[in-house]
Amino acid sequence: TEMIDKEVVIIGSGYGGSVAALRLCEKNIPVTLLEMGLDWEKSGEKFSPMINPGHSAAWLKTKTIAPFMNLFRLEKFTGALDRLDFEHIKIWVGRGVGGGSLVNGGMAVTPKKEYFKEMFPNLDTEKFYSHYFPLANKELKTNVASEEFLDGCDFYKFKRVGEEEAKNAGFKTVRVPNVYDFKYMEKEYKEEVPRSALAGEVIYGNNHGKNSLDKTYLKKATATGKLEILELHKVNHISQNPDKSYSIDISVINTKGEEIQHKIINAKKLILSAGTMGSLELLLKSKAVAQFSIDENIGKEWGNNGNFMTGRNWVKAFSGGTGFKQSTIPVGGIDHWEDKEHPFFVEIAPLPMGMNVATSLYLMVNKLKKFGEVNYNLKEQKLDLNWDKSHTVHMKDNAKYFLKTMNKANGGTRSHLLFHNGFGADVCYHPLGGIVLGKATDQFGRLNGHKNLYVIDGSLIPGTIGVNPFVTITAIAEYCMEEIIRKDFV
Ligand code: FAD
Repeated sequence: TEMIDKEVVIIGSGYGGSVAALRLCEKNIPVTLLEMGLDWEKSGEKFSPMINPGHSAAWLKTKTIAPFMNLFRLEKFTGALDRLDFEHIKIWVGRGVGGGSLVNGGMAVTPKKEYFKEMFPNLDTEKFYSHYFPLANKELKTNVASEEFLDGCDFYKFKRVGEEEAKNAGFKTVRVPNVYDFKYMEKEYKEEVPRSALAGEVIYGNNHGKNSLDKTYLKKATATGKLEILELHKVNHISQNPDKSYSIDISVINTKGEEIQHKIINAKKLILSAGTMGSLELLLKSKAVAQFSIDENIGKEWGNNGNFMTGRNWVKAFSGGTGFKQSTIPVGGIDHWEDKEHPFFVEIAPLPMGMNVATSLYLMVNKLKKFGEVNYNLKEQKLDLNWDKSHTVHMKDNAKYFLKTMNKANGGTRSHLLFHNGFGADVCYHPLGGIVLGKATDQFGRLNGHKNLYVIDGSLIPGTIGVNPFVTITAIAEYCMEEIIRKDFV
């Protein structure tokens, strides 16, 4: 076992970890960033498209783990997409330098001000909307596709059909910003540059076009010369030393997932940014196996951000379905959030299967009626999630209402082949909460009962934010790090 001392260590290189790294490095503070996944750019490995899954398709699995159509065998490899399976819910997460930004759809949505205020009554809402959200969007390189391009591009037929049908049904549609560079996509369309979004790349990573964190925050942080990124470093647990520093127990792994070295890094200051499930696992497991002291609120107020997948089979036979060719990058949304009875937001999602399946896919974001709770199961050495059908029954009602309204106006049926009879209550892309800001931490992400331990990631958001969450995670990370650096790093 190798023992190393460090001043500041961050665990996890997703949105929270990348913001923390940049803001510390900018202030000349050396940072060590531990990431269990691969540094894809350095590795020279390519990301694979959905219809031809390769190394990037799954984290150490022998079969693909997409939300549907898992017909492909795989070689075990430290891939970019992972899925955590619980009895009533499956949670997808990104692995690698850049975390979820490597595999996500890039939808960069600022939440509704009223809902943000409801979720975070103690934060300065005005400052968030005048400063932290604009800052996050600028650093993430959020942009919006030109309407002219979308109208003329055959890869966006699914979006035109989806929006037209939504309008027919009386729903309000909205244009959704993204971090995929739409100027690049226009060039892809003209075949002036290599295709990525227009070549079926997304949940197994994009080789071009997407401004994932390795191209934004982490690139800037690396340019300071102060950032050390250690890939394939999987943290097992943490403990506290008598001098109050933190010991981080690490397995260095190869791309087959085998431990090739055991390391202990001692850190004076430790930032947990392992993502909602990762940070929860580290804290709850460390308590169970290393008597690490944690606040009683840890594990509470967890939620799936109201994620619910559904789909419709499209029956206007003569008009050609949703298109043979589909961009992987969503741009359309349906905003039904203000409705009293059935409040929801819908992403009009692509289904880039390489064939015209005449199916519309929708990712719904609903409100939560009841939080879940996360615990550590010492016997089975894994997280337990208190989450069942009772948590999603109102989301299913919303999905039924949505499909009924759409079908009545446009024809079509529920897509019985997708998910469970057309209802994906167990599909979760947006796990949030469990280490809630102002409850398990102070108002800036300092963990209760600890002096030099911070949590900066999606776990700070109490289970729901009403839209796709990474812009909010980034803005909250910016806000927390500003205060933490000012007060704790002088
Ligand atoms: P993450 O981005 O999850 O980063 C955590 C990092 O920590 C990971 O790289 C992980 O490998 C690492 N880690 C975890 N445990 C350990 C450990 N023990 N040791 C070392 N490293 C560890 N959101 C949107 O806003 N818009 C979208 O369009 C969108 N689409 C999505 C599509 C998919 C398929 C998925 C899976 C997610 C999507 N999301 C989307 C969600 C978004 O990606 C996440 O909310 C976001 O990445 C969470 O950020 P984070 O900082 O909390 O953690």
